[in-house]
Amino acid sequence: MSTYHPLTEQEAINIARNIEQFFPADASLSCKEIGDGNLNLVFHITDSVSGKSLIMKQALPYAKVVGESWPLTLDRARIESEKLMLEGKLAPGLVPQVYQYDPVLSLTVMEDLSDHVIMRRGLIEGNEYPLFAGHISTFLANTLFFTSDLGMNQQEKKLQVKNFINPELCKITEDLIFDDPYTVSDNNNIEAAIEDAAAALRSNDALHLEVAILREKFLTKAEALLHGDLHTGSIFIKKDSTKVIDPEFAFYGPMGFDIGAIIANLLLNYAGQAFWTKDDADREAFRNELLNTIVSIWEQFHDKFLALWEAHGVDRLANEAKGYKEYYMKHVLQDTIGFAGAKMIRRIVGLAHVADIDRIEDAAIRNAAQRQALNIGTELIVRNRSIQSIYELIDIVKSN
Ligand code: ADP
Ligand code: MG
Ligand code: MG
Ligand code: MG
Repeated sequence: MSTYHPLTEQEAINIARNIEQFFPADASLSCKEIGDGNLNLVFHITDSVSGKSLIMKQALPYAKVVGESWPLTLDRARIESEKLMLEGKLAPGLVPQVYQYDPVLSLTVMEDLSDHVIMRRGLIEGNEYPLFAGHISTFLANTLFFTSDLGMNQQEKKLQVKNFINPELCKITEDLIFDDPYTVSDNNNIEAAIEDAAAALRSNDALHLEVAILREKFLTKAEALLHGDLHTGSIFIKKDSTKVIDPEFAFYGPMGFDIGAIIANLLLNYAGQAFWTKDDADREAFRNELLNTIVSIWEQFHDKFLALWEAHGVDRLANEAKGYKEYYMKHVLQDTIGFAGAKMIRRIVGLAHVADIDRIEDAAIRNAAQRQALNIGTELIVRNRSIQSIYELIDIVKSN
């Protein structure tokens, strides 16, 4: 019997060889570890004979953060594999297929998506993805509706809340997103040139009130089963296909946290385009495309979610109470706006930054993009509870 240990590339090959009916008997397998190694190992295994390939993701029992390591539960590998399989049922074609899960090794064997690119990189390179809004709005509507009290048996939902309890990974979010950026913390990562803007975050009472309310929702609102880490680095994309990966932060939380994560990362790229697209007219066009994508994601999510509710709503009172659907969708929109702002701010002054902005070589342009992201994020948070339409977000972006 094997016990848990981080695999070597050779051990990964041996496991791959024994996966039933995947590689042919005469396979000639090679393996490369391609993860960034902070939390997980990712093995890419290919057969030079058949050309077939697969991915194995193994959780490590610690996280390497700011040079130190701290223990981190392996249970997140179970959560990730179960969430991936559930997403595969609820949103077919929008996640990698899971071939196998090994609970002892905390190892998920899944479809190789190397023919896609990580969306963050694709956006930095200036690619447009006209089908993305349609794909991700389906992913969001289906995964959120069918795991909520509107779309599934409410007793079974409580068992799912328990199954996806994820305290250690939630604590990372609670600290890094909903606390550190608003205080002096060793976890923060602030460029000296924008220290004044970071200090302003620490002394803005109106901002702190709204962050406390968003934090409370994250802590207490078990609305639907979230992906929990839905940034553009967790999305593989190509022109005609979108695949969501890496749901190890999954837990029952407020829907707007997932929708807001996508929007925040599109807006961080919007800010970064100050550098990435040199031509003024091209930059304007690309930025408008990003904003149109955001509007389209919200509008399609809204329509698809309501259509699912109409067809599959399980809660008689919620289905029939006049005005409730409008109330519900407005609160999801307001949460989305607030969480989007919080996600933007943490990527500028918090521990983990994004390449869209950090890789800008020109310091003046980089710092201006950081300030723009902080200004947009702050306004989204401060105004979230009064937002009535997604177009107010567009106005906020354009006025910053
Ligand atoms: P982590 O939780 O450590 O961030 P991810 O699941 O995001 O791990 O994977 C890290 C990297 O490994 C991805 O950015 C991608 O380059 C590669 N990767 C992960 N899953 C796949 C896959 N199914 N197909 C191809 N590459 C993958
Ligand atoms: Mg990573
Ligand atoms: Mg990842
Ligand atoms: Mg991850």
